[in-house]
Amino acid sequence: MATERFAGARVVVTGAAGFLGSHLTDALLAAGAEVVGVDNLVTGSLDNLAHLASEPRFELIEHDVTCHIEVPGPLDLVLHAASPASPVDYLQLPIQTLKVGSLGTHNALGLAKDNRAGFLLFSTSEVYGDPEVHPQPETYRGNVDPIGPRGVYDEAKRFAEALTFAYHRTHGVPVHVVRIFNTYGPRMRMADGRAVPNFIRQALAGEPLTVHGDGEQTRSLCYVDDLVAGMLAVLERDVRGPINLGSSHEFTVNAVAEAVMDAVGSHPGIVHVERPVDDPQVRCPDTGLAERLLGWHAGTGLAEGLERTVAWYRRAR
Ligand code: UDP
Repeated sequence: MATERFAGARVVVTGAAGFLGSHLTDALLAAGAEVVGVDNLVTGSLDNLAHLASEPRFELIEHDVTCHIEVPGPLDLVLHAASPASPVDYLQLPIQTLKVGSLGTHNALGLAKDNRAGFLLFSTSEVYGDPEVHPQPETYRGNVDPIGPRGVYDEAKRFAEALTFAYHRTHGVPVHVVRIFNTYGPRMRMADGRAVPNFIRQALAGEPLTVHGDGEQTRSLCYVDDLVAGMLAVLERDVRGPINLGSSHEFTVNAVAEAVMDAVGSHPGIVHVERPVDDPQVRCPDTGLAERLLGWHAGTGLAEGLERTVAWYRRAR
């Protein structure tokens, strides 16, 4: 997709070595941009960027964005993806998660402001917490426990949204905020702790799939290529947001486990284990705004997306 917005643009991607950051980096390079990745490799991996080793339009700066970010040369866009994003990761890295959402967002916004560049915040459906409104429209203000275990991520992203809009109102930075719902695909770490990689790892090993609680909680799952297309559309159409990006097809976790077993072609069964504190009971985006403003929806079906993802994990093992 070589569009005017990206061809020849110089773009910073924080968290470029992560799951979403690396896929977005690939899409930007394919659209003709030059990408400067910034990552401290806490949850990201150089493996996700290995295929770019001889790409002259890509460079990686190994740096923790909670410290002042220096990127020499002019910039057109700063895309701020850096953060632990799996519940297991942010429960293990609570202070880093709070710092990257607050100090990291401050530094990334400062970089955008100094360069008169645009800014995109990778926000999250977690800003809605354990929602009492279903599906969740962007106008819903959420149900988050600030001092609960997930508060470190939820509140960091809520603060990041507030800071992003403050920079827009105070300094005129052209900002975009996307609220990303559950997304899956190649390059999620096997040990990332999230449902899809966990279930795939377990099914490939012939071990029972660990479903939390009774498995009747719901999620909608977006294939990564769809998500990246939605993000590029947000930038191309200059949509400020916050805007939900995700699939509107809702499944129980039990159904996701069954779908993964079908995709792997191995049926070791399900074992029900303890459910994490504050695990949202339901989650599904109202995608009306994305459909209206972007003409976008997540088109890849779960079976097809899982098939592609499982094929990648088989190769990567
Ligand atoms: N989950 C599960 N087994 C696992 C991992 C996750 O049953 O091994 C559940 C989790 O409790 C949640 C859903 O699957 O209800 C999605 O979890 P995930 O970690 O993928 O993302 P979240 O939606 O919690 O951010």
